Amino acid sequence: MKVIEKIQSLQEGKVVFSFEFFPPKTEDGVDNLFERMDRMVTHNPSFCDITWGAGGSTADLTLDIANKMQNIISVETMMHLTCTNMPVEKIDHALQTIKSNGIQNVLALRGDPPHGQDKFVQVEGGFSCALDLVKHIRSKYGDYFGITVAGYPEAHPDAIGNDGVATPEAYQNDLAYLKRKVDAGADLIVTQLFYDTDIFLKFVNDCRQIGINCPIVPGIMPINNYKGFLRMTGFCKTKIPAEITAALEAIKDNEEAVKAYGVHLGTEMCRKILAHGIKTLHLYTLNMEKSALAILMNLGLIEESKISRSLPWRRPANVFRVKEDVRPIFWSNPPKSYITRTIGWDQFPHGRWGDSRNPSYGALTDHQVHKVFEPSPFSFVWSYY
Ligand code: FAD
Repeated sequence: MKVIEKIQSLQEGKVVFSFEFFPPKTEDGVDNLFERMDRMVTHNPSFCDITWGAGGSTADLTLDIANKMQNIISVETMMHLTCTNMPVEKIDHALQTIKSNGIQNVLALRGDPPHGQDKFVQVEGGFSCALDLVKHIRSKYGDYFGITVAGYPEAHPDAIGNDGVATPEAYQNDLAYLKRKVDAGADLIVTQLFYDTDIFLKFVNDCRQIGINCPIVPGIMPINNYKGFLRMTGFCKTKIPAEITAALEAIKDNEEAVKAYGVHLGTEMCRKILAHGIKTLHLYTLNMEKSALAILMNLGLIEESKISRSLPWRRPANVFRVKEDVRPIFWSNPPKSYITRTIGWDQFPHGRWGDSRNPSYGALTDHQVHKVFEPSPFSFVWSYY
């Protein structure tokens, strides 16, 4: 389903959220990402998206991950696609692949220049900007894809001067260009990260003034790490309000305190955004789980009992035991849980998908199944208990 249709069909007042992931560098990282996604998806995000590595560096992996997200994790998936190093044949290969995998959502981007280059250069037979890509997708694939584009509350970094701000004229040009992307067929905007909520709210207002009427989803990046935060905001030329700089300066050497502050700040930013009637939140997870979920929990958008724990049991509902977080290993599996886990053993006669202790468990022959989902005596990735 297209994400825009999901958003438009929301009940009055309902808030939805989404998670962004990037392709990990190692095979083990990819395996772990699927496990993490699988847990995070139990909280019912409206969609999850996967980035396209800078310069197309992760093209095959991104396509593969997007396919598994949509078809194995079973979450509505949006794949990022950039024009960097992409002649139109490669772009069409990517679009045809996701179309044949039943994915309907693309985040159409220009992309940054490849490593070692300052400026974006159009590759021969390729596109010069996201606007071209949006036009191409609409003209070649009609209405099949929901198309999202990037919006920049402080203007695109290229338009931001050495003083850290875009001139009013550069900002207005950027807005006018964003409107052209929407007029060409984009139906959703996800924003660049920001830490000054007023700037985001003004941006939404400015977009509405010039007739951009589609949903504008704020991109929230929880601060997980001081150096990473400085690197990312430096790269994106993001304005950091003085009170945030001061708060971080005092705790920058204490990683736990920085994370806790990141959750607090993210929560407060989202509260303010929601209070202004915006009902969609997009979390840049950086493939991490805790801060994104903690923010959503603080906002009352997800339940604590569903947040996965390092051991495979749920937080007890018993008021006297809710704080328990250790217990002997097999005691954690009361009879009901055992029955739930084994009840489906004989539903699949060949046992391909089951627990290896399943009496009907047989040899795994379906090589399409990703390693993370292969049954092993020690893994219960299919057991959602
Ligand atoms: P465009 O929309 O094409 O334009 C960028 C800017 O250039 C415009 O804002 C405008 O100021 C100017 N411009 C371009 N063309 C014109 C024109 N015809 N007329 C006037 N002005 C023009 N990068 C990746 O490599 N992989 C990713 O997965 C990825 N995901 C992202 C997700 C989000 C939500 C965001 C905000 C960014 C993401 N990026 C990603 C970074 C993005 O590729 C860079 O910011 C890139 O420099 C611009 O991409 P764009 O699609 O915004 O470009």
